[in-house]
Amino acid sequence: MTRIHDITLTLGTETAIYPGDPAFARQVVRTHAADGCELSALHTGAHAGTHVDAPAHFIPGGKRLDDYGLERFVLEAVVIEVADRPIVAGEDFDPSAIPDGGAVLFKTDNSITGRVADGVFHEDFVALAPDAAKLCLRAGATLVGIDAPSIDPPGAAAAAHKILLAGDVLLLEAADLRRPAPGRYRLTCPPLKIPDAEGCCVRAFLTEL
Ligand SMILES: [Zn+2]
Repeated sequence: MTRIHDITLTLGTETAIYPGDPAFARQVVRTHAADGCELSALHTGAHAGTHVDAPAHFIPGGKRLDDYGLERFVLEAVVIEVADRPIVAGEDFDPSAIPDGGAVLFKTDNSITGRVADGVFHEDFVALAPDAAKLCLRAGATLVGIDAPSIDPPGAAAAAHKILLAGDVLLLEAADLRRPAPGRYRLTCPPLKIPDAEGCCVRAFLTEL
């Protein structure tokens, strides 16, 4: 039987939120007792929990999620583990492992230590260095993912975001990579069909080949 690894963080009030971003809330607005059915409203930042970024997030006039077909969110993928590094640098991985036209997901100490899913925002999360972003772009990746709330370190100039998004590479952030071992998978991570979105929460999973 095919094995599927859910790499989505739970999206709830316990989800760690990037400082300054809107908090997540689910509010029940109709109840069985009063209305004959239950119905809730969701309030969330588009970048809460596991989510994708489109170029418009950092590039003025850049493409938005509805400019992409579903094939950009169902991809051949490789999970590359980079342990014991404060940042993923170009020298830490072999770009020839990245499937041309596919996705690369970086499993770092954020997942190895379990911090990615502990509900706390860690200032010192492991992110992607600009030279590593350039290597992914040159290797032909169309999506780059990481187990960090942002692909760039906090307070940095969003260099990795800009390199990748300007190169039409989508980003998957806050992926929970605690379970999947390094190797090849099929990645599935479609966003909701919201017009003009610069980013969106997703359900993301890796299917073993
Ligand atoms: Zn984002």
